Parts: sequence; structure tokens; C-alpha cells
Amino acid sequence: MEIPQAVERIIQTLEENGFEAFAVGGCVRDTLLGRTPEDWDITTSAQPEEVKKLFRRTIDTGIQHGTVTVLENRTGYEVTTYRIDGIYEDGRHPKSVEFTSDLLEDLKRRDFTINAMAYSHKTGIIDAFGGMEDLKNGMIRCVGCARDRFTEDALRILRAIRFSAQLGFSVEEKTLEAVAEIAPNLIHVSKERIQVELTKLLCSSHPERMAMVFEQGLAPFLSSHFSGIEKPDRESTNRLSDQFSGEKYVRWAAFLRCLIPTDAARILKELKMDNDTISRVKILTEWWKVAIEAEKYSIRKVMSQMPAELFDALLDFRRAAGTESWEQWEQLKFLTEEIRQSGDCISLKMLAVTGADLIAAGVKPGRELGEMLNHMLEDVLQYPEHNTKEYLLRF
Ligand code: ATP
Ligand code: MG
Repeated sequence: MEIPQAVERIIQTLEENGFEAFAVGGCVRDTLLGRTPEDWDITTSAQPEEVKKLFRRTIDTGIQHGTVTVLENRTGYEVTTYRIDGIYEDGRHPKSVEFTSDLLEDLKRRDFTINAMAYSHKTGIIDAFGGMEDLKNGMIRCVGCARDRFTEDALRILRAIRFSAQLGFSVEEKTLEAVAEIAPNLIHVSKERIQVELTKLLCSSHPERMAMVFEQGLAPFLSSHFSGIEKPDRESTNRLSDQFSGEKYVRWAAFLRCLIPTDAARILKELKMDNDTISRVKILTEWWKVAIEAEKYSIRKVMSQMPAELFDALLDFRRAAGTESWEQWEQLKFLTEEIRQSGDCISLKMLAVTGADLIAAGVKPGRELGEMLNHMLEDVLQYPEHNTKEYLLRF
């Protein structure tokens, strides 16, 4: 298996000093699948203090959990001491973690067999739970008893579905049974962690697997209003597909598009989504269904309601959602290009007069001034040729 040079160096340094060290978890899984890992994690028998002594640049990322980040060529690699997670008091955090000198103990605490493999050049792949077999068969299977593992940390329930969507894998039967059985425990999981998993699910190559969240009865435990969303199944007009571009706001908007925009925003707020994403989702859910006539004035009016890149996203979104026929859509796209090419005014910023111009012409600052500018914009959206200082000041 190929691993980046920096990872090799870190492992080698630890080994030369009498410790064991391996690449572990997601990076091993992704490399075996021919996918590019997002990051490389290293697991080691060395204690955090010992790791810090061996490398020039380190950051105490989570010392109490055994994690030190080692910096190599400005990239960070998390090096974590083998550990056993203590009792999960509340289905959220292990009450304590205990370091161990046994790699197997560390692999045992990991969620799925495909995430519980380790690799070093010295030993090759260490696969104690049949991870290779499950990779080959496309299976998400818990390490050990699924019901126990989900009871320890209910987030794993969502992770199972998320990995299934990212990798196109099935969830193994016993694991799937436990998904449905332990679902109510999701109520104890933090909203941010839930949101991160749902976002990864939606941005995956199988966003339609969001349907599993409903089929397996997870929806009522994700946020107060989540179960009010119509299940996006294969047949309905609300189906989710990878035709929607991969940005998170686009995928969330696609998922929430049949809701009233304020309800969509409320759900995202409950899930602690960032405000920028919420406001973009609101715009897309508001505008994707609105009929736009294939005529420049109508198009300019819609363009004036949002930033340029959001209007482009809106057009793509309408195509993916099938808002209008292909011919009508092409027409919209063509006219949009023409509007841009001719530099038609579509925002207050593009207006040939500014507030200052109006004040200089004797208008009092305040609400009236704002109204006047909006009035001018409205006129210019209809008649782009009116966008000159001369005309507007007379106006
Ligand atoms: P990705 O980074 O693509 O989301 P990943 O598998 O690397 O996938 P991380 O959340 O980065 O996932 O976690 C790294 C590893 O830590 C996992 O592969 C798994 O072995 C372990 N792990 C992460 N979260 C949990 C959890 N909630 N329960 C048990 N093990 C976990
Ligand atoms: Mg990772």
C-alpha cells in the first residue's frame, strides 16, 4: 500500500525509537478503495509526551485523549496513542480514556470493520475484524455487537448511513437492525455532530440514501422539526440525486426544497448550521419553483434579488430539479448570458446614480432616498437604456 512520505517518516521515527506505529482508520480504508484520503491518522504505542519529544513541530490537539498533531511540511498529522475508551456515561463522551500498549484494543474501539484496519510497511495490513472482506463485499458492519456499539455512541448510527452513501455500500443486516432499534438515543447526540454527518451524507455520491434516515425511524430524533420533512424517495418529485451540484448549500436546498423557506431555515438553525449556508438555502428554496418568463425583464428582476453566483446556482438547481422544460431552461440560460454581456444594470450598485448624487441634487437622506433608488432600479430593470446619470436625475 502506498502512503505519503511524511506519514512514512513519522512511522519510521517512532519505530526507530522502539515504538509501534501505523496508519489507521479512514486513510487505510480510502487507500484500499482507491479513493484519496482526506487526512492521515497515525496510531502508536508511544505516549503523547514521548511523541512530542521525537518531533520538532507538534501541537497539543487533544493531549488528554492521547492526540498530538505532528507538523511535516506544513501539513498536520494526528498521532494518537493506542487507547481504550472508558464507559460512555451519556451516549456522548467516554467518561475516560485509558492508554494501552495493545494495538488490537485500539482497533476494537473503532466503529466499523472497514474503519478498524491499520497499516505499516513493516507489518502490512492488520485486519482483525474482517475489514478487507467487508470492503470487498461493500458492507458497513460494526466492530463487535452493533447494538452495544450504537448504545455507547449513537452518532455511529448516522455514520453507518453516511458511509453507506459515500461508498455506495450496504449496511449489514444486524447492524441495520440495531440502527432502527437504538435510533431514539440520537436525541442525546449534539446537533453539530448530527449536522456534520447529514451534510456528508447529502454531499456524497448517493444523497438519495437520506431516505434511510426516514425508513429506519431516525428522523424524529434529529431535531424538533426534522420529521416534518417529506421523505425524499425514489419516485416522488422530491427525489434527491447527484445531479445537484455538490456544494453543501445546494444539497441541503435540494433536500429541503418542498418546505416553506422559513421552515427549511428553522431546521438548519436547529442543527446549528452556519448562517451563510442558511441564507443561501433560503434563497434557493424560495426561488426554485417561481416561474420565470423567458424574457429579459423577468430574468433581470430575479437576478436583482440575489448575488450573481447564487443566480447561477439557481439556474443549475432548476435544471437538476426539472423546474421547467429543457428548451425553456436553455432559453433562460441564453438570455442570462446576453444580460451579462451587455452589462445591464441588475443591482443598486450598478445604478448610474448613487445616494450621494441624489443628496447633491437636493434629496434628503433617509427612507425617501432609499425608496427613490429602488424606484430607479425597478425602472432600469425594465428599460436598461435608462441607466444613465442624465436620465435618472431627471427621473
Ligand atoms: P472521514 O474523515 O472521511 O469522515 P474517517 O473514517 O476518517 O472518515 P473520522 O471521523 O475522521 O472518520 O475518524 C477517524 C477514525 O476514527 C475512523 O476511521 C474510526 O476508526 C474512528 N472513529 C471516528 N469516530 C468514531 C466513533 N464515533 N466511534 C468509533 N470510532 C470512531
Ligand atoms: Mg478522517
